[in-house]
Amino acid sequence: MAAKKIQPVMVFADDHGNIYDHPEFLMLVRRGRELTLPRPDELIPLPEGSDLYLLPGRHALGLDPVTGRAEALDERAVAAFVCPTYTLSATAAYLQEDSATRLPLFAYGAVGFANDRFWVTATQVDKDRRQVFTGISQERIARGAQDLLKRYPANRLLQHLARCALTFCCPAAKNLALGRYEAPLPTARICNARCFGCISFQPEDSGFPASQNRIDFTPTPQEITEVMSLHARRTKNPILSFGQGCEGEPLSEASLIAEAIALFRNAGGQGTVNINTNASLPDTIPSLAQAGLDSIRVSLNSARESIYNVYYRPRGYRFADVLRTITTAKANGLFVSLNYLFFPGANDTESELLALTDLVTTTRPDFIQMRNLSLDPELYIGCVGDPAEPSMGLANFMKRLRKTCPWIKYGYFNPFLRDGVPVLWT
Ligand code: SF4
Repeated sequence: MAAKKIQPVMVFADDHGNIYDHPEFLMLVRRGRELTLPRPDELIPLPEGSDLYLLPGRHALGLDPVTGRAEALDERAVAAFVCPTYTLSATAAYLQEDSATRLPLFAYGAVGFANDRFWVTATQVDKDRRQVFTGISQERIARGAQDLLKRYPANRLLQHLARCALTFCCPAAKNLALGRYEAPLPTARICNARCFGCISFQPEDSGFPASQNRIDFTPTPQEITEVMSLHARRTKNPILSFGQGCEGEPLSEASLIAEAIALFRNAGGQGTVNINTNASLPDTIPSLAQAGLDSIRVSLNSARESIYNVYYRPRGYRFADVLRTITTAKANGLFVSLNYLFFPGANDTESELLALTDLVTTTRPDFIQMRNLSLDPELYIGCVGDPAEPSMGLANFMKRLRKTCPWIKYGYFNPFLRDGVPVLWT
């Protein structure tokens, strides 16, 4: 519900984590280096399942409506980590202390207060409820995971995933334990990229931890197929996905994955088999498609090679390989999604729109998952450089791209495919 007349005030927090609304100063938002008031059409109530974070070493920033000046408070800044299916159109406004430590791997959305509730600047891009666990008790999830541990003692992959459901609360592992939606199939221990925001590996000197432990063994084709068959047997519209947060690049294990998919298909396995990938190895795609793969999801922070390179820091592959993977996948009948890591102010610019329109028009992906790039905003802007153009806003960006590429659908998650066509949750 976009409320036209809402003008939220700023919020701030004390050192105990108590959050307050300011009596006068207005909510400010940030897009790249721009500091502005939120656009009325981008404000929505804070979605259920979202979190509010207190930002250490960062002072809350608001607009004094009398002077029209931005004012920094002594108190801490607050940001919103919106729940899945929502894409941020602006990040939190704050004044950072020189000694501030880096923020962990989350997306820091702008948040304000009005009419007794919190407001954020975001758009819901998908109605899919696969990461909504409201009404599902932790006991039920634990029972499902314990059952997997007991019934499959020899399957290291199921043991790994059941533990992830119990300890890390990984939504994909929880869905496997519950027998619903999308099951995770991590296989790869290495990666040929060094993304700034990698959630499974962070170098010592990065200043913040990886949020997931990278898998420390390579499952056998039989172990993988056993997970696939189990999930496919007991799930409506099952999706089986390689390329998870707890691993490296799955295409580095392409022959293992192809063998597992072929075993699954030859045993009559049904369901959408997908790979989330950095798309670095185009020559692996034909054999995977032949084995029975249905879709790939290609991660990109930008359609501009220079901005892609500074973030992904590819080793042994080039941006051209990523594009060739998309065209090869299409040529082999696969459904292609872009996992588009959107950062307000850096992506919604004329140059990026031009580059993305060109990429989409020439390589013809089918679907764009509008994800929030989860990294300390200062670090990301420092990495890709100050945006040289004004931001047009998320809604405008999506509308204009769709105008030129009308076949494109937007979402947030890998869709289940029936005869190659996405079954979207309406
Ligand atoms: S491609 Fe994935 S696994 Fe590799 S560095 Fe990037 S985020 Fe990490």
